[in-house]
Amino acid sequence: LSGAYDYRLEPALDAKPGDFVVAPLGVNEYVGVVWGEASGEVAESRLKLVAERLDCPPLPEELRRFVDWVAAYTLSPPGAVLRMCMSVSAALDPPAGRIAYALSGDKPTRMTAARQRVLNVLADGPPRSIADIAEAAAAGPGVVRGLLEAGALKAVELPADMAYPAPQHGRPGPELSPDQSAAAARLREAVRSGAFSVTLLEGVTGAGKTEVYFEAVAAALAQGRQVLVLLPEIALSAQWLDRFEQRFGVRPVEWHSELRSTERRRAWRAVAEGGAHVVVGARSALFLPFPALGLIVVDEEHDASFKQEDGVIYNARDMAVVRASLAKIPALLVSATPSLETIANVEQGRYARLHLPERHARAAMPEIAAIDMRASPPPRGHWLSAPLHDALAETLTAGEQALLFLNRRGYAPLTLCGACGHRLECPNCSAWLVEHRLARRLQCHHCGHAMALPKTCPSCGAEDRLRACGPGVERLAEEIAASFPDARTAVMASDTLAGPRAAADLVAQVANHEIDLLIGTQIVAKGHHFPMLTLVGVVDADLGLSGGDLRAAERTYQLLTQVSGRAGRAERPGRVLLQTFSPEHPVMHALVSGDRDGFIAAEMQARRDTAMPPFGRLAALIVSGANLGSVQRVARDLGQHSPRGEGITVLGPAPAPLSLLRGRHRMRLLLKMQRGANIQQVLREWLAPIKVPNDVRLAVDVDPYSFL
Ligand code: ADP
Ligand code: ZN
Repeated sequence: LSGAYDYRLEPALDAKPGDFVVAPLGVNEYVGVVWGEASGEVAESRLKLVAERLDCPPLPEELRRFVDWVAAYTLSPPGAVLRMCMSVSAALDPPAGRIAYALSGDKPTRMTAARQRVLNVLADGPPRSIADIAEAAAAGPGVVRGLLEAGALKAVELPADMAYPAPQHGRPGPELSPDQSAAAARLREAVRSGAFSVTLLEGVTGAGKTEVYFEAVAAALAQGRQVLVLLPEIALSAQWLDRFEQRFGVRPVEWHSELRSTERRRAWRAVAEGGAHVVVGARSALFLPFPALGLIVVDEEHDASFKQEDGVIYNARDMAVVRASLAKIPALLVSATPSLETIANVEQGRYARLHLPERHARAAMPEIAAIDMRASPPPRGHWLSAPLHDALAETLTAGEQALLFLNRRGYAPLTLCGACGHRLECPNCSAWLVEHRLARRLQCHHCGHAMALPKTCPSCGAEDRLRACGPGVERLAEEIAASFPDARTAVMASDTLAGPRAAADLVAQVANHEIDLLIGTQIVAKGHHFPMLTLVGVVDADLGLSGGDLRAAERTYQLLTQVSGRAGRAERPGRVLLQTFSPEHPVMHALVSGDRDGFIAAEMQARRDTAMPPFGRLAALIVSGANLGSVQRVARDLGQHSPRGEGITVLGPAPAPLSLLRGRHRMRLLLKMQRGANIQQVLREWLAPIKVPNDVRLAVDVDPYSFL
């Protein structure tokens, strides 16, 4: 909904702002939240009555204001934002003495496919709520109720949820170095002051940033407050979870998309009741109903995965700062390679900065060198240059581990017909199909479309002429298997891992040195600590630089710094080899010379000169739909109504680089304004007169990260 509706409340309901209630809307009843005083626009006599108040802690005032704030900032309906705060409807009912349903043993007289699925689900699993059974069986709740009435199910009472054990914040942490101690003291101070502040905790990979911010977590817990830690890839963060447990004696409460529905419900409810003390989660955790939040930590604050790209389009890093300011608590942004946005905020005095300049225990930073691929080209059909090959051989002979980094899943990014030059493309997207040889299929990385590799070219009919072009991690693994047959090798990419468990197992195997050579995409770049890993080879350092993205250089620098940081984290020194066709590129130069400050200064200047973020503001409009004509009409209409004025630039409408995505045509416009301008106001006025037909979607992306 685009705003609150007026209702009448019976005093007997005793509902106050923030309370969850059930109210009629149209012909149905929905769960909603009491938002505040009525607008008075509807005559008293015509108001509908709120039906029921749910037995659930109210949505805190701070969170309600946050919902309104995010909605206004992202130009989303407040209802869409509020829905993210109440994502687990089952949690709105109290868990105590929960009734669940199990098989009674009697068969229903009438059987349907949906009924059979429900019976199968219960035959294989524990008793559950009607909603959970319906979800697991992909059936409507009515089907489950029907079976209950037919006597095939029976009600059983389950014990209330188990409480989450409290972290032992009084346990001593490791002995901190003087730099670490000083930073920890400042953070504890910020937490105790009970006021809003933003601090950047910056330090090279392996500097002990995690240990330091654990001290801030402990300080917040000591005050009886809750803590939220946002991590980019929580499902891959087994090592982080283990470290938390070592420090605090218990595991934190996790919040991410891989949680089972019962765990989500338990976690949401515990957050609302204050029984979840530390929550570590993906960006959606920002919308949990903490009643006593005392600290928000955003680890790897520069990471692009904090940007949600569909539905309500928001950046969780930025919105975390907003929530902290509304809740009047400290926000802590952590990174080895902070975003230019955050650096600019530090330079302008809005954010404080704490710096850990050295690795813990004097571990040296790895030596980084570039390999000029023009001078040392690999043999045809190979991807490793002689210097990288030799370095791998040395490392393995020394009994150490190596990581080969290539940010490309699958076997080959492109399949080409040798006879006619035809490229295999996704039918639904303007993108090539990626060969996944292990899975024996071609796959679209945008929409998931998959097909078997054809025998003949779909364009010219030539037989057996389709050939793979370029490497993905699978193809690299093939080359390694041929060159280093004795090395114990593993591939780590999001599609080669079955889930968080498999990821944790593989990380543990590498940490225990059961793997000699790890080949991975960006998911290996983050956070992992592998003491015997001394060589990192970046197979295609130039990969992220093409495409003209505003942040291409910044992101490549961040990613390669991150992945380099996996080398030499313990006693043995590490080295990093970057295979590149342009060793003179500023990113390669900065990495090799270690001149980070020079790189940042040059990037900042370039952004300042072009009035790009963080010095200018951007908002993108994405028009999409299955009917190209409708999409073009809306885009043209937007173009004709483009805002004009001092300091306003509109680019487009133009077909998006991904002009077809999941069968939808896409066109884009980009609005650019000066920093400090009220871009939301301009957008609202621009969009107000635009008529968007039902078959077209108009998405607004304020502060865009993706320009595809
Ligand atoms: P960062 O988050 O900056 O990359 P970490 O906090 O992961 O660094 O620290 C790197 C490694 O050094 C981890 O294994 C950590 O446990 C260890 N470490 C850091 N500081 C200390 C300390 N003061 N005492 C003992 N071990 C530490
Ligand atoms: Zn596709």
